[in-house]
Amino acid sequence: MKRIAILGFSLESNSFAPPCGRSDFEQRGYYQGEQITHQARAEHPAIYAGICGFYAEMDRLHDRDGWEPVPIVHASSQPAGPVEEGFFKELLGEFEAGLKAAGRLDGVYLAEHGGATATHTHDPDGEVFALVRRVVGTGVPVVATLDLHANVSDLMMDSVDLMVGYRTNPHVDIHERGQEAARLMDELMAGVTATAFRVRLPLVAPSVTQLTAQGHPYGDLIRLGQTKLDSRVMNVTVLSGFAFADTPKNGMTVIVTTRNDPGLAKSLALEIAAAGWADRSRYLPRMIALDTAVAQALAVGADPMAPSLLFADPADNPGGGGRGNTTFILSAFLRAGVHGCIAGVFFDPALVEQATAAGEGNRFLANLNTLETTRFSEPLSWDARVVHLHDGRFVGRYGMVAGRSVDLGPTAVIALDGITLVVISKRQQCLSTDFFDAFGVDVAGARSIVVKSRGHFRAGFEHLFPPERIREVDVPGLTSPNLANFDWKGLPRPVFPLDADAVWSGR
Ligand SMILES: [Zn+2]
Repeated sequence: MKRIAILGFSLESNSFAPPCGRSDFEQRGYYQGEQITHQARAEHPAIYAGICGFYAEMDRLHDRDGWEPVPIVHASSQPAGPVEEGFFKELLGEFEAGLKAAGRLDGVYLAEHGGATATHTHDPDGEVFALVRRVVGTGVPVVATLDLHANVSDLMMDSVDLMVGYRTNPHVDIHERGQEAARLMDELMAGVTATAFRVRLPLVAPSVTQLTAQGHPYGDLIRLGQTKLDSRVMNVTVLSGFAFADTPKNGMTVIVTTRNDPGLAKSLALEIAAAGWADRSRYLPRMIALDTAVAQALAVGADPMAPSLLFADPADNPGGGGRGNTTFILSAFLRAGVHGCIAGVFFDPALVEQATAAGEGNRFLANLNTLETTRFSEPLSWDARVVHLHDGRFVGRYGMVAGRSVDLGPTAVIALDGITLVVISKRQQCLSTDFFDAFGVDVAGARSIVVKSRGHFRAGFEHLFPPERIREVDVPGLTSPNLANFDWKGLPRPVFPLDADAVWSGR
């Protein structure tokens, strides 16, 4: 019976955000040993969906002869700053001890994000991959799934047999990529040799330009890559990367993995990269100014017949390391007298406590961001009424949380004049309408909606909001798509579109 170790470290690091450590991982997902298997086969799992997909496909492929998962540790955090060295080294120690105690292994599945940095290195993912290879040796296949926001190093390339990146943004194919990893793992265990070639472009696409729907350049490039799959080509992965990691490994990356045909891997990777580079002028954000957003919110608020609008705050996306608590849009909407608006999810545990102390139905002075120290998260005080208090737990119905258990921590719905705000205690982005209607907030009846999310919300609001009723608002924040706003230290320069004169060598 095949024995496959399951482990992984999953973090997207925004180098401009505060470092993260053990508590961040324990809050989001820190699973050890059999907890992993239990979660992977649960009806409404909370663990990383790629692991669920991997188990489901291995169960299907080996329903007669069986397989034996050897679950070690899976640690995932909400996107945050660099991981603290001390915690990271402890985690490496747990991986090593688990792999050494595992005995004979036929394969290793690494459920990784790939976009992490650490306080001691820009390549903690490479350290994880290298550790696994060192412990299991060269004969054991190692397959990793990666978020398409991964930044790939030479060490990562050299340490594993195969990397499988997501192909959708919003990421609605995580489960499928876990399944794909299982199928390809099966091939490797049967003796196929994977040979990969990687090309990195001097192209760091602003986050809002990385959508994969029809009509978007990144989606077009991914679809081009998929036309190359055949009996010789195992996988084509096109990673948009994550700008805010700010590392020398940043840059859109094409990885072609073949069944032992290195020449083909190289020629195809170069061909796809060339197509991406030729298309680079399409990676420019199209956001609206805050004044425009205010005017549009006022207009739909005054006209009940006008289609409602959704305003995204991509600059404060907790899914990219944002704190989920900047007040630029909220404050402007309040001062302008916008009404019929719902907004969320706003991360402020102290504000939830204020609302809880006041009690449902009662008025209180809401003091926002009393505990926050990061520079964009400005304090704001406004008269409020407590509409509803909740434990913050629900099973999602839409988008990336469909069928999954979600825990936002203690949650308060408060009304600030014409704006209803959902306030949460566990920082995360607003992924779907569930993040409102689980708490009794009427999404369909709202005139305007403000969400803390860069783009993953699209999958969870598309049943109500087609793309033409979505606006991305250009305000400050840790995840601003306006890349010129940042003091870059690690990015390889020149890089497009920050530097219009960037050139690619073609190699
Ligand atoms: Zn991602």
